[in-house]
Amino acid sequence: AKALAGAAVVVYQPGMATAARGLLDIEQALAWAIEQQEFQLDYQPKYTAGTRQLAGFEALVRWQRPGRGRVSPADFIPAAERTGQIVPLGALILRQAAQQLRTWQQQGLALLPVAVNVSPLQFEDAGFADWLLNLVLAHGVSPALLEVEITETAAMTHMDRVLPQLARLRDAGVGVAFDDFGTGQSSLTLLRRLPITTLKLDRSMVDPLPEPSAGAVVHAACVLAGSLGLAIVAEGVEREEQAAEVERLGCTHLQGWLLSRPLAPEAAAALLASGSAG
Ligand code: C2E
Ligand code: CA
Ligand code: CA
Ligand code: CA
Repeated sequence: AKALAGAAVVVYQPGMATAARGLLDIEQALAWAIEQQEFQLDYQPKYTAGTRQLAGFEALVRWQRPGRGRVSPADFIPAAERTGQIVPLGALILRQAAQQLRTWQQQGLALLPVAVNVSPLQFEDAGFADWLLNLVLAHGVSPALLEVEITETAAMTHMDRVLPQLARLRDAGVGVAFDDFGTGQSSLTLLRRLPITTLKLDRSMVDPLPEPSAGAVVHAACVLAGSLGLAIVAEGVEREEQAAEVERLGCTHLQGWLLSRPLAPEAAAALLASGSAG
């Protein structure tokens, strides 16, 4: 933040000072919000292709700023990554997810895996994977009920630190999803080297369906996932036409507004309860 504040002085653009002040403002607000625990998680359901049965959830962080309304994670996560605050915030998010799983377990619900987005900065600490495993075990939750989502860009830029920790999590039964697949410059070698269990096809690949060229790319990704023994989730499914198409093309799971918006914990629990009732 110091460097940025300095930069605002030397650059002769009036907008820059405002932008730097905006960042400082969000940094201070984030620090306070982390301390006050102003964050909650919503849970977006994920469904099995074909049967459309509930298969799990993705936890998505929500920040309700008192007196100022909701801030989108698309706005504050990048800010938290720039300032390093994603590390304490990410820990808070993982703790909340573990607590939620424990609560649902205590309520006697038949649990399904919850995926949590993890930032590459969280892996900078070589003890992160062990910390996370201890966390779930301390909550009496099976590691198999947790999945981490990591973007391909993140996996590539911090490979030496990320790889052994993903392997550690994987060995303990934690699922590992490769997020936003199709948006980076993914090398096929990387796919083979990473200890992943799931590919998540970015919405930008699902959106143009049923356009044939988009279909060809999605199909190729599905074949690749299949031959590597990975699940493949189509993200951002908004229309039935797209859902039918990704199912036809070989995706194993679907996620998107067509099936469900992200849900508050109580609504997610209700869905789990109706699932276990048959
Ligand atoms: P993401 O991981 O790709 O998450 C999917 C985003 O797509 C979510 O936005 C979700 O609400 C939205 N979405 C789901 N279905 C649909 C659909 O059918 N149509 C459209 N248009 N959008 C859909 P959200 O919740 O705003 O999160 C945005 C991004 O913020 C996430 O992208 C992720 O990169 C980041 N993020 C969210 N929660 C966390 C978190 O707990 N930790 C970290 N590190 N990042 C997070
Ligand atoms: Ca994600
Ligand atoms: Ca994604
Ligand atoms: Ca994304």
